[in-house]
Amino acid sequence: MARQNSQMAAVYGKENVYDFSLGNPNVPAPDCVKQAILDILNEEDPVMVHGYMPNAGYVDVRTAVAESLNRRFGMDYGPENILMTVGAASGLNDILKAILDPGDQVLTFAPFFVEYSSYVKNYDGELVAVSPDTATFQPNLRELEERISEKTKAVIVNNPNNPTGVVYPEETIRQMADVLEKKSREIGHPIMLISDEPYRELVYDGVQVPYIPKFYKDTVVVYSYSKSLSLPGERIGYLAISKDVADWEELMGAVTIAHRVLGSVNAPSLMQRVIMRCVDATSDISVYDRNRTLLYESLKEYGFQCMKPEGAFYLFVKSPAEDENEFCQVCKNHRILVVPGSSFFCPGYVRISYCVSHEQIERALPAFKAVAEEYHLI
Ligand code: PLP
Repeated sequence: MARQNSQMAAVYGKENVYDFSLGNPNVPAPDCVKQAILDILNEEDPVMVHGYMPNAGYVDVRTAVAESLNRRFGMDYGPENILMTVGAASGLNDILKAILDPGDQVLTFAPFFVEYSSYVKNYDGELVAVSPDTATFQPNLRELEERISEKTKAVIVNNPNNPTGVVYPEETIRQMADVLEKKSREIGHPIMLISDEPYRELVYDGVQVPYIPKFYKDTVVVYSYSKSLSLPGERIGYLAISKDVADWEELMGAVTIAHRVLGSVNAPSLMQRVIMRCVDATSDISVYDRNRTLLYESLKEYGFQCMKPEGAFYLFVKSPAEDENEFCQVCKNHRILVVPGSSFFCPGYVRISYCVSHEQIERALPAFKAVAEEYHLI
């Protein structure tokens, strides 16, 4: 996609290519991040700031993260429950490395972030997709129940969701917990729920994202500051494993060693120190909200079918052509770049990222309208 963008930009000019393919935040990190970096470099011991540390991360940083989660979600985390990671990607790999034996299955709900397949394969596991409920894009819990077997080690849930922008409400999470508790008893071992939540803070219209460990005790939270603080290139996040998780101490030891032997060793030191100082901050989410409203309302007006996203910064639009790759090509002919739904195990749809400048959306609207006209939607 990035190559297509630069090839098209060379021909048509950068401002005439409408790239909606990437999940790279366009909102700058909040001022407190820059201030924190300056203050850390001026005030803290440079040997410490650039040095090795315990593999799980600095104790004071993990304490700050734990206390923030306790304040916000009424949890009982201490530093011993937190592992600082190299973004969500590394947190997911750490937990999968720690729990998977060859042949184990991990379930997830389509559509899903494509890298899950590779991460599970890294440890000789098998990712099993529960098919999408395209009427609501809520998780299909009946099929989840059917697909759980003795081989099931974990379920990955991503809320708010990439690529649909849907938020799973508390009732859905309660029902999911009921299914997992019942099936864990049946198969004789706890099924771990891996809650991948890099978009937790990106929600609109006052929507609440349930804190899953409150509803299902064997939950491991995988968090990232890539989206909430607009720091995707800095590679910083954490894993949280509460004291309610079965064998939590052993599991914390396992993920910490996994982090080390997978080559991450420890999360970036300077960024950990930044998180310590900006633990409750976010970038300006209202920018995405404004983009969401303009894009959603315009696409609906042009006759496209999609749900209004409640979170993240993606719209998942039904392809007017049976083959969404054809639709992507037609969009490309109008210099619009979007991602086919088959990349998320959900053909027939495309993902449009609206973490772009508002001006890009305004410039792209005539092109979207021309695509709609080509499909006789208006
Ligand atoms: N999980 C989901 C659902 C994502 O969308 C992404 C990135 O886009 C990640 C994990 C990886 O995030 P990170 O950049 O923190 O590794």
